[in-house]
Amino acid sequence: MEKKIIIAIDGHSSCGKSTMAKQLAKEIGYVYVDTGAMYRAVTLYAMQNGLYPDEGIKEEELKTAVDSKKIQISFKFNPTTGRPDTYLNGNKVEDEIRQMDVSNRVSPIAALPFVRALLTEQQQAMGKEKGIVMDGRDIGTAVFPQAEMKVFVTASAKVRAQRRYDELMGKAKTEEEKAALHFDEILKNVEERDYIDSHREVAPLRQAEDAIVLDNSDMTREEQSAWLLEKFNEIVAKC
Ligand code: C5P
Repeated sequence: MEKKIIIAIDGHSSCGKSTMAKQLAKEIGYVYVDTGAMYRAVTLYAMQNGLYPDEGIKEEELKTAVDSKKIQISFKFNPTTGRPDTYLNGNKVEDEIRQMDVSNRVSPIAALPFVRALLTEQQQAMGKEKGIVMDGRDIGTAVFPQAEMKVFVTASAKVRAQRRYDELMGKAKTEEEKAALHFDEILKNVEERDYIDSHREVAPLRQAEDAIVLDNSDMTREEQSAWLLEKFNEIVAKC
């Protein structure tokens, strides 16, 4: 049997990492893990429990919730969408965690060392058996520095903001929801997250030295998928 490997896909916000990663996992029969969804779920927990008011994060209380294992995150495969849904303490939160209010708060939560420690440990446990495609910001540098395949994906901030805008527009159910979406606000969010993610002290977003870089600003989804599959086949053949 072919040897199973760990595939780490890191990069900037909204550059289509998860779409590529999911597609690859499906094609090669690997498990897909969206680590951004895990940071988003912790953020949603903080928001729902009054731990992230406008004044800032109530760190002590959030740490107590983390230490007392009050935040349980899991994934369940959804046969209708063919993708895993994110659950927070048993409730499906897949839609809520993608909303702008969560996007606007997630990076400061992801900069907290105790949050990173918790999620990194869970992610490492998920990859024990290998055969996994994990996407995030620090997978190839901190979670699995030994991953056999590392990809660093990027694209210009404007291209990424446009993709996020189109995605949210596609999901908006009412005219009111559509009217609430503003490209400039999304661009600002993408740029702010880039800044916070790459300047935090613990596991900042950076390209691993041995990562293959993919700038997908001018690539179609099909081209990206073909590129990724080709790289995977090359790496597996050498393992
Ligand atoms: O990938 P996504 O945009 O959903 O991630 C949301 C946020 O979670 C990122 O902007 C980043 O702040 C944080 N994140 C992280 N480390 C990861 C994955 C996500 O810090 N491995």
